[in-house]
Amino acid sequence: MKKAISILGSTGSIGKQTLEVAAIFPSSLKVVALAAKDEVDLIVEQVKKFQPRLISVLNDEVKTKVEAKLAGVKVEICTGHDGLLKVATAAEAKMVVVAIPGALALTAVLEAVKLKKDIALATKEVLVAAGEVFMREVKAAGVKVLPIDSEHSAIAQCLKGEDKKTIKKLILTASGGPFLKTPAEKLAQMTAKEALKHPTWQMGPKITIDSATLMNKGFEVIEAHFLFDLDYPQIEVVIHPESIIHSLVEFVDGSIKAQLGAPDMRVPIQYALLEEIRQPNHWHRLDLTKTAQMTFQKPDLVKFPCLSYAYQAGKARGTVPAVLNAANEEAVNLFLKGKITYLQIADKIKAALEKLPNKENPSLEEILSADKAARDCVII
Ligand code: MG
Repeated sequence: MKKAISILGSTGSIGKQTLEVAAIFPSSLKVVALAAKDEVDLIVEQVKKFQPRLISVLNDEVKTKVEAKLAGVKVEICTGHDGLLKVATAAEAKMVVVAIPGALALTAVLEAVKLKKDIALATKEVLVAAGEVFMREVKAAGVKVLPIDSEHSAIAQCLKGEDKKTIKKLILTASGGPFLKTPAEKLAQMTAKEALKHPTWQMGPKITIDSATLMNKGFEVIEAHFLFDLDYPQIEVVIHPESIIHSLVEFVDGSIKAQLGAPDMRVPIQYALLEEIRQPNHWHRLDLTKTAQMTFQKPDLVKFPCLSYAYQAGKARGTVPAVLNAANEEAVNLFLKGKITYLQIADKIKAALEKLPNKENPSLEEILSADKAARDCVII
């Protein structure tokens, strides 16, 4: 039977690849609703190809342009936050793919969970900023959360058929980003252009900068904590510049399982969309005989302090991870605009973490207000 899916963020990097996956499994997946921002031509192309019943775009101006190009095509077009909510809660959707940044995703995904929709989760903010609230709702609704992230997908694959009690630790691999070999004293001069040259993965600008600071890995540590319900000392990060092993699990008997593959997000997307059932595809495959070497090293926490901040924030719980996430997002924006230096990203985050008080067992409103306070703290 075909599963109906809604996609939040269909024109972003993950959204486009999700549609590629949907296109090769037409007997398993049917796209019923899409939310995008303002890429008019791409939205029009997606609607014509996938024929969703409902779409949402940024505002009326974008809607008018999309409508003009879709004359004669039957589709309901909504706008803004209400439109996004409609897509997230579309009645026929069994699964919602969440691939839009920020607080916007938060309310939409919580509404979808309440309506008992399974979640394929790419947006890191959901678990990083609101992990406690989100997991509470997930447990109450009894829905599945399937990670769209190569590391968490790898761990989920390694844990198949295993007893959770036998896990010694999770080992998340990190490429180390573009500045892995850059001497610490040269980091101050690094520009956004240099940070955007990621060695192994093709991703959007925000996540590429997060990869350059290792904050992306820090977020993944927090996500792993919530997804697999393990304490922070059981979650380790190892630098693996070749990005061939996507993550590993060590068990109590000393055995380690790893998941390997070509660095292609469509593989974890497919695994999530098809609910962990393997199906053949035609994506690029890994040829081990052409793999020159695989190397591993400990992360340098002095050079990349953001990773430590993430562990600290995760352990502190409450609203601290939301502060970490929001302060980072604003600092990365300032860096991308050339307004602060690379090293100031970490400084800004540290200052926000030190300044803002924690609130334990927060509600969604308290998380959103911590998010706002952190942003104000960075911008001023
Ligand atoms: Mg990742």
